[in-house]
Amino acid sequence: MRFASIGSGSKGNATLVSVADTLLLVDCGFSVRETERRLARLGVSAGDIDAILVTHEHSDHSAGVARLSRRHRIPVYLTHGTLGSGRLEDCFETRCIHSEAAFRVGVIDVQPVAVPHDAREPCQYRFSHAGRSLGVLTDLGSITPHVVRHYRGCDGLVLEFNHDLELLQAGSYPPSLKRRVAGDWGHLNNRQAAALLGEIGHAALRYLVVAHISENNNCRDRAAAALAEVYGELDERVVWADQQGGFGWLEL
Ligand SMILES: [Zn+2]
Ligand SMILES: [Zn+2]
Repeated sequence: MRFASIGSGSKGNATLVSVADTLLLVDCGFSVRETERRLARLGVSAGDIDAILVTHEHSDHSAGVARLSRRHRIPVYLTHGTLGSGRLEDCFETRCIHSEAAFRVGVIDVQPVAVPHDAREPCQYRFSHAGRSLGVLTDLGSITPHVVRHYRGCDGLVLEFNHDLELLQAGSYPPSLKRRVAGDWGHLNNRQAAALLGEIGHAALRYLVVAHISENNNCRDRAAAALAEVYGELDERVVWADQQGGFGWLEL
């Protein structure tokens, strides 16, 4: 199993998961042209994508989905609630999933996981094939037992370290937006993400990708400090995703 990203953060997200001939794209928050340009950096063409799996309707995850799916005739998997948001109705083809029910695309088993986030019916995903598994977990405001249970024992994990609480509070966002981001239905701060990692365990992780980092309310030093408290000294298994570059292919 291989995975990569063409960009991660509040201005756009899209993650690739690949096993043998099956290639999945999780979210697409970029224009078609930008997506195609970024995919080329990873040696992939959009025509190779078998399915787009959407986590929720926020534009940093959905902005490019419908157009990309039409242009390349790619089916889109999403929850009823996400479809009901009205932002993804003109896809090439939509396939509604239940946020509790596992399904399969090509050779990849997919487990959706419902998360607390201020969207219609958000879910995140865990991917498995031949005893290897990858968790993708961004855009959640708090840690639930359900999330902990579903992300235990992953070999790879893409985890949101959205903001540093002090930087957010001291920053320029209006009070209502600060409350939203920091709230139980917003985004994980560095300490919450580190605590989650402590709960699900990191000893077996081959890669931990620090993702969806706010450019306004976070910095690597603060995320690294919070992570180190749980993880110990950071090593080559820790990979940093960013808005421009995402991260390159990693193999599990
Ligand atoms: Zn997001
Ligand atoms: Zn979101």
